[in-house]
Amino acid sequence: MSQHLPNLADPWRLADLGRRFAGRIRIEQFPRLAQLLAGPSGEATYELEFFTDERGYSCIAGKLAADLSVECQRCLGPMAYPVRSEFALALVRSIAEIERLPDRYDPLLVDDTDIIHPQDVIEDELLLALPQVAMHDTEQCAAVSGSPQADRVSTQTKSPFAVLAELKKK
Ligand SMILES: [Zn+2]
Repeated sequence: MSQHLPNLADPWRLADLGRRFAGRIRIEQFPRLAQLLAGPSGEATYELEFFTDERGYSCIAGKLAADLSVECQRCLGPMAYPVRSEFALALVRSIAEIERLPDRYDPLLVDDTDIIHPQDVIEDELLLALPQVAMHDTEQCAAVSGSPQADRVSTQTKSPFAVLAELKKK
């Protein structure tokens, strides 16, 4: 059974209870991410499953999908950047524990308060999924001379139907 994400949660307890969450969050709700994007439009779809694995690790398995709009570093125009991410985190209390983690897990360090903001987990994963340097393919970049897009950057965002209509006119 899946539920909406709590604002604050004890992740150890959620893992004990085997809780699952699924839903959508608007991109503008992620301030750290939004400031790195060309625009904070759209939303992220998430699934988070808290569980205890066979070795006793408290874990979070997650799936994310979001169609982000990043800024091309060459022409500074918007560029669609779809993110599809799956991750597996194990809760740890110390740096020493991180070194002992099985390879299949990334660590999620939980401090003494035992409280996390689950939405931060999602935002962190989206941040990790961003490209270091985003750039259009040369044939789609307005800053590359001779590219068919050089004088009409908006072509990419036209609907397939609009493109079809244009073809028919010819
Ligand atoms: Zn570009």
